[in-house]
Amino acid sequence: MNKNGKAFPIPVRTNYSCSKCPAYCCSYPEIEVSSRDIERLAKHFDLSYRDAEERFTKYDAKEKVRLLRHRQDRVFATVCMFLDQKKRRCTVYEARPGVCRNYPDSPRCGYYEFLKFERAHQDDPKFIALT
Ligand code: SF4
Ligand code: SF4
Repeated sequence: MNKNGKAFPIPVRTNYSCSKCPAYCCSYPEIEVSSRDIERLAKHFDLSYRDAEERFTKYDAKEKVRLLRHRQDRVFATVCMFLDQKKRRCTVYEARPGVCRNYPDSPRCGYYEFLKFERAHQDDPKFIALT
């Protein structure tokens, strides 16, 4: 505990490096957004809630949730519309949805482990592993 009675933050070591990854998690077809996420995106783009909801999300009637819209990608079949497909980075990082903030919610990322293994195996540090 520190002098304010708060526990010291424990640094968490992660086994993945998103900057070396082609953003596989942004290709997940079901990236769910909450109304708070839509509000944040609306504010970021200076849009109304309804416009942001319409432009950036689609309704999944089966699951009764709203999902981020996708577009075609040259690496994976489709990716979130907010991914910069050249740099493989999020273009709305500060306003990204909660689910993106929390992912992978663990010190390990399964895809990155697979990617590292394939890159070592192929002896190519830029190899892109497709699942
Ligand atoms: S798949 Fe894993 S390593 Fe790649 S961007 Fe997502 S969290 Fe990062
Ligand atoms: S909002 Fe950003 S982090 Fe989330 S899926 Fe889209 S590109 Fe990836």
